Amino acid sequence: MRSKIVAGNWKMNKNLAETEALLTELAAKLPDTQAEVMVAPTFVNLAAAVRTLDSSVIEVIAQNMHFAESGAYTGEISADMLLNIGIDTVIIGHSERRAYFGETDEILAKKVKAALAKNMRVMFCFGEELDDRKSDNHFKVVESQLKNALFSLEASDWGKIVLAYEPVWAIGTGETASPEQAQEMHAFIRKTITEAYDASIANNVSILYGGSVKPANAVEIFGKPDVDGGLIGGASLVADDFVAIIKAI
Ligand code: 13P
Repeated sequence: MRSKIVAGNWKMNKNLAETEALLTELAAKLPDTQAEVMVAPTFVNLAAAVRTLDSSVIEVIAQNMHFAESGAYTGEISADMLLNIGIDTVIIGHSERRAYFGETDEILAKKVKAALAKNMRVMFCFGEELDDRKSDNHFKVVESQLKNALFSLEASDWGKIVLAYEPVWAIGTGETASPEQAQEMHAFIRKTITEAYDASIANNVSILYGGSVKPANAVEIFGKPDVDGGLIGGASLVADDFVAIIKAI
């Protein structure tokens, strides 16, 4: 059975004191849940976040990493640096990295391979832009994003992959994909993986939905059979909202 996951992507928000305060509140309010709960604070606060959550089941994950082992890459962070502070899951391919930092499918494929080579778990993000959906190209775009970054992996690598479908038009806009649109795409993703690999890999990979998930819409979205949880931006910055979303799974 694939895991249910609720992850909070804090993006470039919360200073050190705010990070510790929010995590302490979250740990105290965490409901009983079957789901894996994860948070991705900004790089400078990761070590403190790991310490703050020392006795909690909440997992601290990273928002990004570089593909190189080490070296002259000013401003970048390696897999080993993350592992060294106790972080073994990394988000790769977020649409903001693609849009604002020039991360192409080719770069993302390298990052995925680098993380897997270190036995890290990868939460791979992808999703179409509004124009792609309007022109009815959303399935094609998603298929090519998956193919270019992931389909040269070995079958055995897939146990370390979590997928997060995040339609760009639904991120931070208040506009969500309808539960039906999310389900339709998630089912398409499983079909695409079945064709590239097999049904068992497709059925065992967790596929999260991301894009304006809130307490008010989480139950409906998470209720869809191919939606295994969510990657939450804005609503993960407020403990009560994030807790309500965790309860929805
Ligand atoms: P919002 O929940 O703020 O729309 O962000 C979603 C997201 O990008 C999570 O990675």
